[in-house]
Amino acid sequence: MPTINVTVWNEFRHEKRNDQVKAIYPDGIHKAIGGYLQARDGFAVKTAVLDDPEHGLTDEALAGTDVLIWWGHMAHEEVRDEIVEKVRQRVLHGMGLIVLHSGHASKIFRSLMGTNTGELKWRDDGEKERIWVIEPSHPIARGLGEYIEIPKEEMYGERFEIPAPDELVFISWFEGGEVFRSGCCYRRGQGKVFYFRPGHETFPVYHQPEVQQVIANAVEWAAPVAGPQPAYGRTAPLESK
Ligand code: ZN
Repeated sequence: MPTINVTVWNEFRHEKRNDQVKAIYPDGIHKAIGGYLQARDGFAVKTAVLDDPEHGLTDEALAGTDVLIWWGHMAHEEVRDEIVEKVRQRVLHGMGLIVLHSGHASKIFRSLMGTNTGELKWRDDGEKERIWVIEPSHPIARGLGEYIEIPKEEMYGERFEIPAPDELVFISWFEGGEVFRSGCCYRRGQGKVFYFRPGHETFPVYHQPEVQQVIANAVEWAAPVAGPQPAYGRTAPLESK
C-alpha cells in the first residue's frame, strides 16, 4: 500500500494553559496522535497548529496532505474563513478529513455537514463510555472487539445536529444514560469525512490503544483511492449509431 500523507491539525491552546491537560499531552494532542501514526507502517505524518502562519495549512501543506485530522475546541472562531474554504475545497477534490471530538463545532465540519451549529448535549464529569461497533465489517472497525470502553470521558448525548451519516460505525453509551452517534462516515464530493467522538482534553483518551487503532483505520479508509476523475457536462456518445 502506498504511504499515506497525514497532517494532524490541533488548536493547541488547552495544552499551553491548563496544567492538567499539559500533564496528559506535554507536546500537544497533535504530537500524541501524530507520534502514534508515525510509528506505524504506511503513514508519513506532519503536524500543524492554529498559531502557525496560515494555521499551518498553506496551499503547499494542503496539496501534500492525503488525510487531515482535526482537533479544535476553544478557538473555532479564530480559524480564518478563507483557510476553512481552502480545506473544504481540498476535501471536495478528494482529501480525507477526520474530525475528532469537539471538532463537531468547527467551521470546517459545520460547513461540510451543511448544519447550523453541530450541537449536542455534554457533561464533562468523567463518566464511563462504551462505544459499540455496529458495523463490524467496516474498514474502520478492523482489529476491534465488540465494543471499546473508555474509563473516564466527557459525555456527548443526542441529539447530535448532523445529517444522517452515510455509514454509522459506532454508537456510544454513557454511564449517565445518554447515547450518541460516535463514528459517522460521509462522502462529500470526491472526499471522505469521518467524525469520531472520543477525545476530551482532560482525559488521556488518545493514549488508549483501541482509540489509536480507530484513528489509524479511519486514515486508511479516508485516504484518496486514485479512482477515475469524474467528467461532467455535454458529452459525445461512446457507441456509434
Ligand atoms: Zn470535550
